[in-house]
Amino acid sequence: MRLYDTARQEIVDLELGDHVRMYVCGITPYDSTHLGHAATYLTYDLIIRRLEDLGHTVELVRNVTDVDDSILPKARELGIDFLQLAESEINRFTQDMEALNTRPAALEPRATESIVGMIELIRGLESGGHTYTVDGVTYFDVTTFVSFGELSHLTNEEMTALAAERGGSPDDPRQRNALDFVLWQPSADDEPRWDSPFGAGRPGWHIECSAMSMDALGTTIDIHGGGEDLIFPHHECEIAQSESVTGVTFSRYWVHTGLVGYQGTKMSKSLGNLVFVSDLRQEIDPRAIRLALMAHHYRSNFEWFDEEASDAQSDLDRLVRAAGKADPVSHGPLVDEVRSALDDDLDTPRVRAALLGAAQSIEDGAGPPHRGCLVAAASLCGIDLH
Ligand SMILES: [Zn+2]
Ligand SMILES: [Zn+2]
Repeated sequence: MRLYDTARQEIVDLELGDHVRMYVCGITPYDSTHLGHAATYLTYDLIIRRLEDLGHTVELVRNVTDVDDSILPKARELGIDFLQLAESEINRFTQDMEALNTRPAALEPRATESIVGMIELIRGLESGGHTYTVDGVTYFDVTTFVSFGELSHLTNEEMTALAAERGGSPDDPRQRNALDFVLWQPSADDEPRWDSPFGAGRPGWHIECSAMSMDALGTTIDIHGGGEDLIFPHHECEIAQSESVTGVTFSRYWVHTGLVGYQGTKMSKSLGNLVFVSDLRQEIDPRAIRLALMAHHYRSNFEWFDEEASDAQSDLDRLVRAAGKADPVSHGPLVDEVRSALDDDLDTPRVRAALLGAAQSIEDGAGPPHRGCLVAAASLCGIDLH
């Protein structure tokens, strides 16, 4: 299977053992599950399905960021406990993922239950001379990690601008360098706090994923995933702090998904235009949501338009009609075509076109009746046509 690797900046042949360790950055449970989440998690689901089809076992770990700088203000705004907010959002997310027929994660660690590992990691960084503490805030000093920036391939200026946009504080005079980031910080009065050798407080965002990934999957994983807005700073910082402690490669491959907009604008909480999976699946079959998202290549940023929902439902109806009650067959030209399109940097638009083309020729009575082949090919994509 070939996929685009962000660090190498090219499409590469995945060289994987029988057992594949995959970590995908999970939700911060306060605005889930919108279509952007669905597009991301369905991408890794297709990768997992194809790797399993190739004979690998895949151990997926997808965390829950249930304490960070975005969920705490939201809980404060709603006047509820942050864990209560997390609980209801996690339930909704789980139901959405089940409805979308995604392969379950082996483990879904929560940040609030992984604090011990984070503290241990920060202690390791401290003893290696990678940290400093000012006013109770412990920072990572990026000048102690020479390959900082090699994942994102951004200039210092670009990284500084993005850090300011995405949770960093490059102008904070307490930092030695603009790109230094928080490992541990004091909590505000109404925020949760944990005891640590660096004072009572809470973790920074990036250290959470390093600790959860390494606790669950060891020092080196095969594939690390997430939306492309996580490349910098989140994943760049994960690499710096993990590899500074272990001295070995944190993730062998980095696979990122594009962002989803809505009818010409950014889809965001603040604009109030998030398309929620839970609403969408009242309108259309969850299998149609999968089919609709397959029309967009995973690395492209795309706009969602409302009419895509009803179009996808009619496409699904066509597939179901054409498949009839046939049993899946394990081999056939359509199955081969789908496998090779998936192997080609997950070319889902081509997969979708092949499925719909086959359904069309079955309906037209043109060509041999490949009903069983259509069922098998759709099932490779997580779409059950029975
Ligand atoms: Zn993460
Ligand atoms: Zn066939």
